Amino acid sequence: MSYADIILPVPLTGLFTYAVPDGMSVGIGMRVLVTFGRSKTYLGIVARLHNDKPKDYQVKPISQVMDATPIITDNQLKLWQWIADYYMSPIGEVYKAALPSGLKAEDGYRPRTELYIQLSPKFRSEQALHVAIDMLQRAPKQLKAFLDYLELSGWDQLGQTEEQFEITRDELINQGHTLQSVNALVQRGVLETYDKEVGRLNFGGDPHPEHIKPLSDVQQEAFNQIQFSFLQKNVTLLHGVTSSGKTEIYIHLIQQALDKHQQVLYLLPEIALTVQMMQRLQRVFGNRLGIYHSKYSDAERVEIWQKQLSKHPYDVILGARSAVLLPFQNLGLIIVDEEHVTSYKQQDPAPRYHARSAAIMLAQMYGAKTLLGTATPSLETYHNAKTGKYGLVELFQRYKGIQLPDIQVVDIKDLQHRKMMNGAFSPLLLAKTREALERGEQVIYFQNRRGYAPMIECKQCGWVPHCQHCDVSLTLHRNMNQLTCHYCGYTYQVPTECPACGGHDLITKGYGTEKIEDQLRDIFPEARIARMDLDTTRTRNAYERIISDFSAGRTNLLIGTQMISKGLDFDKVSVVGILNADNMLNYPDFRAYEQAYMMMAQVAGRAGRKGKQGLVILQTKSPTLPVIQQVVQNDYAGLYRSLIAERQHFHYPPYYRLIYVYLKHRSDAVVESAGIEMGSRLRQWFSARVLGPDKPAIAKVKSLSIRKLVLKLEPGIGMVDVRKYLALAQQQMLQDKRYSSLQIYFDVDPL
Ligand code: ADP
Ligand code: ZN
Ligand code: ZN
Repeated sequence: MSYADIILPVPLTGLFTYAVPDGMSVGIGMRVLVTFGRSKTYLGIVARLHNDKPKDYQVKPISQVMDATPIITDNQLKLWQWIADYYMSPIGEVYKAALPSGLKAEDGYRPRTELYIQLSPKFRSEQALHVAIDMLQRAPKQLKAFLDYLELSGWDQLGQTEEQFEITRDELINQGHTLQSVNALVQRGVLETYDKEVGRLNFGGDPHPEHIKPLSDVQQEAFNQIQFSFLQKNVTLLHGVTSSGKTEIYIHLIQQALDKHQQVLYLLPEIALTVQMMQRLQRVFGNRLGIYHSKYSDAERVEIWQKQLSKHPYDVILGARSAVLLPFQNLGLIIVDEEHVTSYKQQDPAPRYHARSAAIMLAQMYGAKTLLGTATPSLETYHNAKTGKYGLVELFQRYKGIQLPDIQVVDIKDLQHRKMMNGAFSPLLLAKTREALERGEQVIYFQNRRGYAPMIECKQCGWVPHCQHCDVSLTLHRNMNQLTCHYCGYTYQVPTECPACGGHDLITKGYGTEKIEDQLRDIFPEARIARMDLDTTRTRNAYERIISDFSAGRTNLLIGTQMISKGLDFDKVSVVGILNADNMLNYPDFRAYEQAYMMMAQVAGRAGRKGKQGLVILQTKSPTLPVIQQVVQNDYAGLYRSLIAERQHFHYPPYYRLIYVYLKHRSDAVVESAGIEMGSRLRQWFSARVLGPDKPAIAKVKSLSIRKLVLKLEPGIGMVDVRKYLALAQQQMLQDKRYSSLQIYFDVDPL
């Protein structure tokens, strides 16, 4: 009798052993059906085959094998196990995160087609559109759905956009419409549906290696240094200022790997960035390039997964975090672009893994190399490069000698004092914006808050609406006319009067991107303004649309959150406004300055065009802070020196390792006592390395009260034991009846 250790999608640690019935042909990496608990059926993944009969329990047999060949490779299983161990997350959670739902469906079902909607041909003129809109006036829900359709698909820009975006019915419904209203539009003959086979979409045409741009001398030198570095180091950092041509160097490296018949994984931290990069890579690599991220439909992801297992996989995969979990066959190179961006780390739910670390592990399994690229390295990475763990290649010149932007600091506290601010805008920013627009150039405004205003307040008594489920004030979204909690997503009606004092004067506090947009429309009525934030980019097409409109010049003033701070390469941007640096600087975290520097340096890097120096207006209330000066002088080395000394002194990463322990419970009293008890348990083993428990700045989210403990671990401490004791403490806590519904989880290397 042989046995199989199986990964199940349950939040329990470890593998589960089942018997393999005689005659059943099962291999590692195949899916199997098994019963678990009270005869519940699960789809599991075989991780190991062996002959050791478990002693202490009766093994059940595998019910059914779902695959003839493995759908998970050995290296994927190894990576899953590493993520589970390192990040202290049940392997079942890794499995759930890694596999597209279509491959998890127990009956093996996966859709081959998706339902798309389009405007009926008879309504495809401006006049006919007006007729349709008039007709729908009495059906407001349908009208709203229809207007959203027009916006999503690009029809509302009739005459400006030649090409419409294809959108699925689900995409429209996901905008908050009912199936009923969408179907009603189809019945009226305004919209029509069609099936489209998905996955079969072949992205690009033939590859064109001749489109690769020859490198400049300094770029060639950096390219050579990277090659040389790879002879000795598995990981190399390419630290190159914005627009130095890092991407062109990547393209040369990718081609080189392809020539050696190796695969390449190119990671970007955000889906928004893959859109522009896709176009750049496709020009060269054509249909050898595949794209993978979570905004793709499940069917498409299943398709790519299976293609990667087939005889003809994509040679280059461009993707966001989750692409590191795809199957590869002969991976030779991983590029982690914008390696400093924190969204590489998954926050919620588990597994809370960092894709950069996972990429380095994955590369190691294949004997592949990892290139980390950025203009502003994370402190950890730069430290690893400076101390010789990673190779380091630096590139300080922009391509064609384009100058780095001129950064001018504006003291908004002083201007407010002198009543010279116009809303969120200084006179200098407005003047430079006007000049740029008049010259036909483009402008970007950066404000790291979405919504209309982060807070509303009763002018009379100071009452502020809070979320019922979270410990935060609510953000006003005026377009939707509602208050929204950015932590749980719950929405509330905007009150017309103050429930505390009955006052009618509710004022908005602070500026979100919506309010910035509103005010700019008043100040620059002729500007073509677009806004890019989470709210305007809920669908994949919306991203593409905003980016392509801006790069084609159909819009000329782009307002955005940190989404616009990275990687996007626009040609005509001459002015960048950073509206408020203080939001970032005042963040209560030891990484605040590092993060603020990166954000500002990256946003600033969007300014500057061929032959003309760009201008950045940096508005802040603290113009004398060293970090502001470091931004102005593009002094990354200075920033690094000051921060690294601080980190060493106060025992923070990269010198010390951090693990956060979170406890959550519906009752604040329970979580309070649980926190204290967890603290004393942990102190038995870790003594003074344990800090807390503390109430985090936001101490309640989604009706769960939170406590947090911090573990600071010195270099050289045995992590195997650390994990063992943490798991043990967790287990002991959960065995206590009082804490049976307590949630405990770990965040390893938190960001
Ligand atoms: P980075 O990735 O460092 O921000 P990019 O690779 O995006 O820089 O380069 C900035 C701009 O300069 C891009 O438009 C790019 O096409 C152009 N560029 C950079 N290097 C070259 C080159 N060797 N030949 C032609 N154009 C280049
Ligand atoms: Zn009031
Ligand atoms: Zn909430």
